[in-house]
Parts: sequence; structure tokens; C-alpha cells
Amino acid sequence: MNVLLFGPPGSGKGTQAKDLAERLGVPHVATGDIFRKNLREGTELGTLAKSYMDRGALVPDSLTCDLVADRLLQPDAAGGVLFDGFPRSVPQAEWLVNWFETHGRVIDAVVSLAVPDAAIVERISGRRTCTKCGATYHAVHNPPPAAGCSTCGSTEVVQRKDDSEAVVQSRLDVYARETAPVLGVLRGAATVHDLDGTGDISVVKARIFAALAL
Ligand code: AMP
Repeated sequence: MNVLLFGPPGSGKGTQAKDLAERLGVPHVATGDIFRKNLREGTELGTLAKSYMDRGALVPDSLTCDLVADRLLQPDAAGGVLFDGFPRSVPQAEWLVNWFETHGRVIDAVVSLAVPDAAIVERISGRRTCTKCGATYHAVHNPPPAAGCSTCGSTEVVQRKDDSEAVVQSRLDVYARETAPVLGVLRGAATVHDLDGTGDISVVKARIFAALAL
């Protein structure tokens, strides 16, 4: 099954993706995670992506689509993938629809999570992320253990540079201008489930699983 998680930054896509990918039995493909991994490993792609990520801008479409094309051709993606954070622009969405058509594959469902801007700013500016495994916490609602990340034990649980309040607003602007119109393209290509992304993680998870009849 190919499923796409859609929504503004901080709408809970990454949080929900883990359980959902496991349930669907497909790999979780998060372009942001791939860029951050490249950055940690010091690759050319990582260095290039950083200059865009740090200011909340989108990494250029050609670079992002090439990366996704490579990922989709890996053997573990043959039975489907769960996209998180891709596509983020109309050209990316059109590229993806075309890629699926050309490769005889189908986008089975889009899950679109809606969260108001004020809640997003609160969620993102409190978000803390493990630099090693990517696990996320919230400074107030779900603080990381003093001993370090409860998933991998790393003591490097920090605020992502692009999660600072200064950058969050520009990410929201980019979302409104470049990413929100993507839904129009996706509605023409797949079933879109418009869901409320507010509330506890478990409540949102139940909404998603119900919408997908899982
Ligand atoms: P995320 O982890 O999804 O919040 O993404 C973090 C940052 O990575 C974004 O603000 C962008 O700079 C970059 N990024 C992630 N996915 C994409 C994409 N599909 N297209 C362009 N840039 C992306």
C-alpha cells in the first residue's frame, strides 16, 4: 500500500508515521529525515540541503525528486511506502503522480492532518529531537528523560535549528504558499482523508487507523 501523510510542519506526521508504517508493513519515507541523515554523514547532499533547511525553505524540487526516485526503486519499497513530508510543492506532486503512473503503481490514500497555526507554533517550538535516532519529545508535554533518549540512549536530545520560533513562522509561510496547493493535485489522483490532527497522539492515531480501515 502506498500512503501519503500530508499536513503542515508540526501536524504530527512524523509521530504518526512510525506506528502507521509498521501497521502497513511498508518503509517510512521522510524526506526531512533523509536530508538530516545526509547532513550527519557529511555528504554533499546534506551540506546543500542544510542551507535551505536552516532558513525553513524548501530544498530544490529536482534534488528532492531524484532522492525519492532512488528510494522508491530500493527493494523494500516494492510493496509500497508511507510518505511523510513529500510532496511539498506542486511540481513535486505532479512528478510523483507521473512517476506512479509510469511505474504502474497507485497512491492508495492520502491522510491530511489539519492543525491550527497557534497549536503548531506551540508544538514545534517545544519539540526536542534526538540527533542520533530522530525520536521526538516536547519540552513541556513529554520531556526527554534526564538520562537521554528513551529509544536509543543518546544524550544528544536538542532543539532542531529549524524548530526555533524564528524559523517556524517562515516554515508556515512556505507551507501556505508552496505546500498547501499540493492537496489540489492529490485530490485529483487519490482518495484524500481530511482529518483533525489536534488532540492526543493516541486519539489522532485512532482517527487515522479508522479512516484507512486498519
Ligand atoms: P521535516 O523534517 O519534514 O520538517 O523537513 C525539514 C526540512 O527539510 C524542511 O523545512 C525543508 O527544508 C526540507 N524538506 C523536507 N522535505 C522536503 C521536500 N519534500 N521538499 C523540499 N524540502 C524538504
